[in-house]
Amino acid sequence: MKICEDREALHVMVQEAVQMASKGKVADYIPALSDKDPHTLSLAVFEGDGPCVTAGDTAEMFTLQSVSKVISLALALMDNGEAGVFDKVGMEPTGDPFNSIIKLETHSPSKPLNPMINAGALAVTSMISGHSVDEKLGRLLSFIHDMTGDASISYNEKVALSEYDTADLNRSLAYFLKQHHVLNDNVEDLLELYTKQCAIEVDATSLAKIGYIIANEGRHTESSRPVMPLHIARILKTFMVTCGMYNASGEFAIKVGIPAKSGVSGAIMAAIPHGAGIGIYGPALDERGNSLAGMKLLEVLSQRYGLSIF
Ligand code: GLU
Repeated sequence: MKICEDREALHVMVQEAVQMASKGKVADYIPALSDKDPHTLSLAVFEGDGPCVTAGDTAEMFTLQSVSKVISLALALMDNGEAGVFDKVGMEPTGDPFNSIIKLETHSPSKPLNPMINAGALAVTSMISGHSVDEKLGRLLSFIHDMTGDASISYNEKVALSEYDTADLNRSLAYFLKQHHVLNDNVEDLLELYTKQCAIEVDATSLAKIGYIIANEGRHTESSRPVMPLHIARILKTFMVTCGMYNASGEFAIKVGIPAKSGVSGAIMAAIPHGAGIGIYGPALDERGNSLAGMKLLEVLSQRYGLSIF
């Protein structure tokens, strides 16, 4: 059965999954994220051959945070090629937290293990082509406008500034990477671009549409027009499986088995190969930074519709 035809069940699943939120906590290390209602939950599913189906608090807007790492990776790969990107960033998962610095020092060479941890994402963002922060951010936003069909998508200034003002750990990662020639940007410019990238604001529907394109080999549904090459869509899905849910990616692969990327805002974008894109927002997080209700929802969806790719 197509997921989108099962609307009633989707509403019930959202109502049940939101109960999980009471066990979680909204991220507060970025001050502007801390005032979100933990009991919010929205779901959007896009299967390409009909409208995007939504359930829950669907009007809710939220920032991409780490979900943006998948999108910036696509752009950096198109700009620099695989050899250019993977010369600076590795392909291996890590059991360390997303903002950990430890492997940069203990692992040789001193390059970030993968593009989904903050160190790797900073290096990837530094590879987006453009002459200024505005031009690079503009390219990232245009890419998102193309994938979602929504040219009004922009970044949330308050969240971006709040993160920029408090991003000392990311700042230290960037300086470390610069010292080791992984990047050579002006660090403050890079931090401005990275925090604006993380603060790009969407709803669940837009997230589902981006997930759909990644799921479907980089192509738009109506026209089959490629937005990114097939091999890049495959690289993104692979990183989503191996590193997308922080240091819970292994457990998530067993329980859910869908390529997915989460962010500390409570966003999760999932891409079911040759199937659907799913967008979820539930800001109450577990201790590893994943949306509790969002993960429960994906687990239930995967079981009900047999979505595991394994
Ligand atoms: N902007 C966040 C940071 O760099 C993103 C982290 C995340 O969503 O995992 O800390």
